[in-house]
Amino acid sequence: MKKIDEQKIDKLANLAVKRGVSLQKGQNLLISAPIEALPLVRKITEHAYKEGANIVTPLFSDDEITLSRFKYAPDESFDTATNWLYNGMGEAFDNNTARMAIAGDDPMLLAEMDPDKVSRANKATNKAYKPARERITEFKINWNIISWPGKAWAKRVFPNLQEDEAIVKLADAIFDASRASVEDPIAAWDEHNKSLKIKTDWLNNHNFQTLHYKGPGTDLKIDLADGHEWMGGASLAQNGIICNPNIPSEEVFTTPHAFKVEGHVCSTKPLSYQGTLIDEIKVTFKEGKIIEAHASKGEEVLQKVLNSDEGARRLGEVALVPNSSPISQSEIIFFNTLFDENAASHIALGQCYTKCFKDKNLSSEEVKSNGGNSSMIHIDWMIGSEQVDVDGINLEGKSIPIFQKGEWCK
Ligand code: ZN
Ligand code: ZN
Repeated sequence: MKKIDEQKIDKLANLAVKRGVSLQKGQNLLISAPIEALPLVRKITEHAYKEGANIVTPLFSDDEITLSRFKYAPDESFDTATNWLYNGMGEAFDNNTARMAIAGDDPMLLAEMDPDKVSRANKATNKAYKPARERITEFKINWNIISWPGKAWAKRVFPNLQEDEAIVKLADAIFDASRASVEDPIAAWDEHNKSLKIKTDWLNNHNFQTLHYKGPGTDLKIDLADGHEWMGGASLAQNGIICNPNIPSEEVFTTPHAFKVEGHVCSTKPLSYQGTLIDEIKVTFKEGKIIEAHASKGEEVLQKVLNSDEGARRLGEVALVPNSSPISQSEIIFFNTLFDENAASHIALGQCYTKCFKDKNLSSEEVKSNGGNSSMIHIDWMIGSEQVDVDGINLEGKSIPIFQKGEWCK
């Protein structure tokens, strides 16, 4: 029976504590994780206390326990949520508790359950989760997400392998993508953060007004939001701590103008959305809005997504990722946005990142008038490949190459 490399678990845990969440002496740490990730959580806890953590609190979830509710709980259960828990998390974050989340659940766990119960339960949880979510999206505290190869996820990525082999293979892919399998992951991340900073500084100095994408089936001009800022890699939380929210992360990203996108674009990799694969997406934008959309597979789901709300047909994110990124080179489809969005340059339909503005204190009206989109969805899909070029057009109308054949010109 194959087993996950324990040394690499230790390296990932150490990296997550020191560079991911960047835990400070005396800080409390809240970890949410699937119970399968117990070996990783134990290691994280060990490193956290060695760094001077005050109290580490793990919150575990379990697929069987989650399913029990959908199978046996009374109907009233699905309109309620554990408000006390999320209020407590909000209170913890107000008191400077750092947050770590470990992803790795079965992406299809609830696929067989009653969709009505699932959507009611999601709605109730989303509402109750607000005090915790707001402090995370407003970046009040340092936080980090890493991943663990849960068995159901591993079998989805590698359906033809035995369970133990699939888990080990996904584990290695996670470690590699997270730069946790190298000799010194901390030094590798310091280097990586430095190189992402050079890119964001260069883009911010140029202050491009428009990005022009050209490739097979693609000729697209995306204007960026007024006062936008490019971000990527390590970033500063409001509590003054610099952390790496996502491990892995290969992208630099900013907020496009929701009303100034023109032309057509095709996807370069399939999009996995709630268990459906949507492939070969082709859309046309006019004044920022998608006026025509097709897909060779999953078109029905795509149309449903586009009709979710007002903002679902407009862009909320534009991100640049070179084709040489380790995740792209692995050629694995992870069925998980945390990984797949780091495989190629992408755009996202829906909600924008309000932090991607030079002025960090914009009201939601100001974000909107600067071109920031709002929606209840945020779905990334890939438009970059070794055949796609991206030019930046500055305020004087001068065009400067940013990407050629899928790689940074800079
Ligand atoms: Zn992104
Ligand atoms: Zn995104």
